[in-house]
Amino acid sequence: MLPEVGSLWLLRLLRDIQLAQFYRPILEELNVTRPEHFDFVRPEDLDGIGMGRPAQRRLAEALKKHRSGLKSKNWVYKILGGFAPEQKETTPAPNSPLSLPEPEGGLKCLIPDGAVCRGELLGSGCFGVVHRGLWTLPGGQSVPVAVKSLRVGPEGPVGTELGDFLREVSIMMNLEHPHVLRLHGLVLGQPLQMVMELAPLGSLHARLTARAPTPPLPVALLCLFLRQLAGAMAYLEARGLVHRDLATRNLLLASPRTIKVADFGLVRPLGGARGRYVMGGPRPIPYAWCAPESLRQGAFSSASDVWMFGVTLWEMFSGGEEPWAGVPPYLILQWLEQDQARLPRPPLCSRALYALALRCWAPHPADRPSFSYLEELLQEAWPPEGHCVRDVTEPGALRMQTGDPITIIEGSPDSAAWKGQNGRTFKVGSFPASAVTLADAGGSPATRPVHRVSPAQGERHQGSVDGDRGKAKLRDLPPARGQRRNVPLQRMKGGAERAWSHPPGVPGSTEGHWGRRGFCHPEPQGGPALPSE
Ligand code: ATP
Repeated sequence: MLPEVGSLWLLRLLRDIQLAQFYRPILEELNVTRPEHFDFVRPEDLDGIGMGRPAQRRLAEALKKHRSGLKSKNWVYKILGGFAPEQKETTPAPNSPLSLPEPEGGLKCLIPDGAVCRGELLGSGCFGVVHRGLWTLPGGQSVPVAVKSLRVGPEGPVGTELGDFLREVSIMMNLEHPHVLRLHGLVLGQPLQMVMELAPLGSLHARLTARAPTPPLPVALLCLFLRQLAGAMAYLEARGLVHRDLATRNLLLASPRTIKVADFGLVRPLGGARGRYVMGGPRPIPYAWCAPESLRQGAFSSASDVWMFGVTLWEMFSGGEEPWAGVPPYLILQWLEQDQARLPRPPLCSRALYALALRCWAPHPADRPSFSYLEELLQEAWPPEGHCVRDVTEPGALRMQTGDPITIIEGSPDSAAWKGQNGRTFKVGSFPASAVTLADAGGSPATRPVHRVSPAQGERHQGSVDGDRGKAKLRDLPPARGQRRNVPLQRMKGGAERAWSHPPGVPGSTEGHWGRRGFCHPEPQGGPALPSE
């Protein structure tokens, strides 16, 4: 059989090192047609086609020579090599014959086209569609996966979409964390496909907004999700990455009690000493989730991700409501900056957790806590658990039966009535403090749930926007310097629903980019000209 013209280089290279017998298996089983494709081939893959380790080392050496003359011309190398923060060429190590950096925990590989079959459509995003799929491993086992395929137009993939797709791959292939969605590998077929860990329960946003008879998510579980999210974000922060699209729609449920951060399409490495990334041109951004500096200057950093974490917390405790629903993007920025307005406290959210959200929404990025500090703050704001020690049937009180698990949302030492959630019925309400014993109180009657969120060193206190419409104030936190007034929820919620669009000519408005998620351009107002998309 004659070799394909496009893969003659491979045949020549293999002939030169007396390994021509592997030409077909490499081409057909490993799907390698270009030198860069070897970036995704693991030693085990070569073992699988019967190539011994000494031969693999010869191949690695030959490839290195071949690529040194080629690499600047190559598109996959350029895109993946150029964007992957830790992707570098290395010299062959004894058990890494192809000199490919093996990511911790492993399998990030080139997957042959025929090894993945796609099933039901799970959804579609900006540049691709996602299907449920089955990946058949070389050993014959099948793994349920999600397959994201690059959307291809009649002329082939569009340049920016291809770039974004490969950028997402290059970021994901270096990530390994229990709460970050895992990339298994890439299918270099037509279309290009990312093979990812399947999150069988879909997005957290869909779960939050699911109607009865699906029960609401209990407060204690929401807190667990927040801890998982803070852990995953601390991991990204430590790796110098900014997510830029943190929202419940991008948190996927891998199991009923496990979320994974997904959608790395907007992730960027943070450059420079200032640890921030500034957009070079107008691109859609999720406006209602963004920090003021992102809206004004297109500036993103771990601190702007922390702001988004606060909005994500708000979404979780609001049952998946849309932040700033119906408010035009230019007004959001105005309210955030001039009025110091903040999203109001949702009824399910304790004051301690809301105080934490307010710290995430500090006007100055430097005043926001880091994700690792947020993990500690979450621990301090954790709602105490208890159980009911007598039936409560008083009118107006939260109904409970002896033994019911109770999560305490609010309780003060001076008050005889506490607010909590019954873990059996998921109902929220007030009840006599004496009816509940705290789990960690050694069986003695409840004394007081203590919620204290202390400010970080050097952090300014943040002001409070009262979610209980003026009834209770956050006692621990004085208003922020320069805070002028709070804007109540009613004012923020316009009559308009999601169909709202900007009047033409309004700063920051770009009709057509205000999509279902409120994506919009940032206002280009004198932001420094730093690296662009
Ligand atoms: P964007 O437009 O920014 O790419 P998106 O999240 O809508 O954002 P995709 O990441 O392409 O787009 O995902 C499309 C849909 O597929 C989403 O509804 C998402 O919940 C679902 N989805 C994506 N990845 C998985 C996965 N690994 N497991 C299960 N469902 C997934």
